[in-house]
Amino acid sequence: MSMSDKVFRISAGNDQFRIFAVDATQTVQQARDLHDLSPISTIFLGRLLVAAALVGQDLKNARDSVTLNLTCTGDLQGGIAICGGGKYLRGYAQNPHLFYEEIPDNFDLPKAIGGGTITIIKDLGLRSPFIGICELVTGEIAKDLTHYYLQSEQLPTAIALGVMIGNDASIRAAGGFFVQQMPEADKHLADTIIDNISRTPNPTDLMDMGLSPLQIIQRFVLRDLDCTLLEESEIGYCCNCSRERFLRALLTLCQAELETMTDGIDPLCHYCNRSYHISGDEIKEMLTLT
Ligand SMILES: [Zn+2]
Repeated sequence: MSMSDKVFRISAGNDQFRIFAVDATQTVQQARDLHDLSPISTIFLGRLLVAAALVGQDLKNARDSVTLNLTCTGDLQGGIAICGGGKYLRGYAQNPHLFYEEIPDNFDLPKAIGGGTITIIKDLGLRSPFIGICELVTGEIAKDLTHYYLQSEQLPTAIALGVMIGNDASIRAAGGFFVQQMPEADKHLADTIIDNISRTPNPTDLMDMGLSPLQIIQRFVLRDLDCTLLEESEIGYCCNCSRERFLRALLTLCQAELETMTDGIDPLCHYCNRSYHISGDEIKEMLTLT
């Protein structure tokens, strides 16, 4: 698990706009490899991971996390992407191997998603997390989240997400950007940026041509407008599971549940497919504690 991808935080027009841009190509490649994802499942989980990386840039502390939990009526069924501390991404798809006989169907995300919701859970270390729900309107994920920011936070936000897959099923490019207009922003400047965004090609097409997400923002989204690069940091696929976490989770189970496990168990982490062994003797010891 390496932190080889990049995220940029940019301010434009004297803080009238906050912008995040991410290259998550290696992260999505790792997700594809870990979960052996089919092309449509790669596009789906990849976009959800890029979205989590962008939404996660709102978080200030290393212990804070954001979870995007998408549930849908289509064949993909849903998936989860988590960004911890604005850096550590992980996730899984409910239907990792979805494959259609008709080739174009394997690239039609709205069709494979159908209807549904995205639940956005921001855990900021407070007593209870902040939870928002966004109805899926388009199934493209980016536009659905745009809609959510306007409705729930009253902030006009543009989001672009993309995953480009090569002929050999490797990830050629995965990334996107997030542009948010602050309440005091100049209307004329906002119109210019909105117009620029509408004329910006898909970010993964530009990344595939060799542009970095920062260059895409500078050359296409802002054109000649003033901007400041506030921070450039690393981001990557990283799971925080451990044997201790599984042991702690077991301690929350009731006696009857633990009694079904006295031959030992091998729990599997959904996020990284790592398996752990917990022996029957350890379970029996837990039973003496409950
Ligand atoms: Zn794990």
